[in-house]
Amino acid sequence: IPRERMRNFVIAAHVDHGKSSLADKLLEIAGNLELAEGGERQVLDDLKVERERGITVKARTASMVFDDHLLNLVDTPGHVDFDYEVKRSLQACQGALLLVDSTQGVQAQTLANYNLARDAGLQIIPVLTKLDLSHSDPATSLEQIEQVFGIPEDEVIWTSAKTGEGCDEILPAVIKRLPPPPDAQALPLQAITAEENAASPPVAKHTMSGLIFDSWYDRYMGVVCLVYVEKGTLQVGQEFFTDSQALGQKRSQGFQVQEVGMLVPQPMVCSALRQGQVGFMFGNIKDSSLARVGDAISDHLDGLTQDEETLEARKVRSTPKVYASIFPLDGGDFDELRKSLERLLLNDSSVAMRPETSGALGNGFLMGFLGKLHMEVFFQRLEDEFGTEIIATAPAVPYWADMRGTGERVRADIPAQLPPKEMVEQYLEPMAHTTVIAPIEYMGEIFRVFKERRGVQTGVDHMDETRVVIKHDVPWQEVIVDLHDVLKTVTSGFASLEYEEAPPRVADITKVDILVNGNAVDALAFVAHRSVAARRGRAVAQKLRSVIARQQFEIVIQAASGPKIIARERIPPFRKDVLTKSGKTVGGGDMSRKRKLLEKQKAGKKKMKSVGNVELPQSAFYAMNERD
Ligand code: GDP
Ligand code: MG
Repeated sequence: IPRERMRNFVIAAHVDHGKSSLADKLLEIAGNLELAEGGERQVLDDLKVERERGITVKARTASMVFDDHLLNLVDTPGHVDFDYEVKRSLQACQGALLLVDSTQGVQAQTLANYNLARDAGLQIIPVLTKLDLSHSDPATSLEQIEQVFGIPEDEVIWTSAKTGEGCDEILPAVIKRLPPPPDAQALPLQAITAEENAASPPVAKHTMSGLIFDSWYDRYMGVVCLVYVEKGTLQVGQEFFTDSQALGQKRSQGFQVQEVGMLVPQPMVCSALRQGQVGFMFGNIKDSSLARVGDAISDHLDGLTQDEETLEARKVRSTPKVYASIFPLDGGDFDELRKSLERLLLNDSSVAMRPETSGALGNGFLMGFLGKLHMEVFFQRLEDEFGTEIIATAPAVPYWADMRGTGERVRADIPAQLPPKEMVEQYLEPMAHTTVIAPIEYMGEIFRVFKERRGVQTGVDHMDETRVVIKHDVPWQEVIVDLHDVLKTVTSGFASLEYEEAPPRVADITKVDILVNGNAVDALAFVAHRSVAARRGRAVAQKLRSVIARQQFEIVIQAASGPKIIARERIPPFRKDVLTKSGKTVGGGDMSRKRKLLEKQKAGKKKMKSVGNVELPQSAFYAMNERD
């Protein structure tokens, strides 16, 4: 297939606007689903958690042949936490299908996706989805597409993935409207065996370079990469280098390509991946940190990203933005937990991990993530794939302190690390630029929500007669806690939110310690703006009182800012007579009742962690992120 007959494209959409459904439909139209055994729906989301959460966490790609063209569909992760991966995926493409749910119209993420695609120089094909639904409102969506993106009505394709209507217009439009990848070479397209593959002649050296736009760890194959070949040919036996590996120690030692192929979307081994093509590749890479998403690959060191600044910027982008500490439920499971974490980390090199010892909770790990969703997906995988039970602290964001005297800027990943006020010239807090799209009538409520969270309004635009685009700068901590949920609540689900990192801002913050029977529990400490510290401290103490069970002794919970106690709550002990009474009932009761009680106690014990002699349930650790 010559270069003129190749197309690489992405599908971009706000969550739930029908990306996976449409991708399936396109594969079906091209005949790929007949190839796939079982022909299961939603083939692009193959991880269990993705299915459960309805999001595509890891980018997947699929190649199809249609009308004598080789079409490579790059499925990108749709959520903002994975923004970095989305940007990388776009570099392998020349065009984007931008989906707009005709029942919802343009949403915050549609806008963000449009901007990304436009910035990457991609040709955009707008697609209306879900037109079979009775409440679909194509006229409004078309108006918004014209108003916001400046794309005329007649360029929009109308579809329903459910009935299949309009879907067959998409692939012809991809061929007609999108350009082929630049300077692609002719490509023989056929599946061959591994033996044939090994026997194919070597290609000239110093000609290949490409881009890793996804990678994951496989127990048998090691690190598997999805690559876009920008120049030359990628072939079995070839030696190759990656940015991340070249940055490390082993600069002179390359990897060796063991197998290459296309995804249709299940793997199909090929003789080679040629210029302009996307596909999978694995070599003898045992560590996913040496083949990261966004890395350049090349068969010679000079072909790699040489620009230190670019590499530095990439590193900054992939530093964690949210931290949480995790501890095994039973201290004895520590090694088990470490093994599980290490295996999961092979799959996701954007997760940071280091051992941490909590005075209250013992040995555990401090984990860093790109966002809250990234964190939640990781914890769910930990439980799904490894059955490891953990207690996690509430997600916290990093703060900075400019130290008095030295002027040194110190980063505190968790509240316990925040240097005390006496030593600090000023604190800084991480910020986010947020964009909300919502119906005009909710504007007042939205402003109130942001004001309460110390947001600064930076812009309001009308998208059409009924909807507005509202921009704020707001502390990242507030985004993490509950911003999305609160916006959904006050707008009856009509608001959509998108955010990106903004430069940190000087802030008057303070650490609030929580003491249980006089002992500070480091895992319960949190950071708050001074103006709300006392109120938050009281709220957390009250919340703890309500979730900690009574015991045979009194429990006193205090919140303190520095030496000052700002809240105090008391959990009274059981009364003596209650104890004997219940004791009698159990003692004299029948066996099944006794067993039931025991089971109940066991279940109740499940997610508990003892601090001193007080048992804390998992909900206690989330107390500081719960607000009324
Ligand atoms: P994604 O999050 O963008 O990948 O969206 P999905 O493809 O997972 O679709 C989100 C939801 O919308 C699912 O419940 C789909 O069944 C539903 N859906 C997608 N396309 C259509 C369509 O054309 N018509 C109808 N009625 N429902 C659709
Ligand atoms: Mg999906």
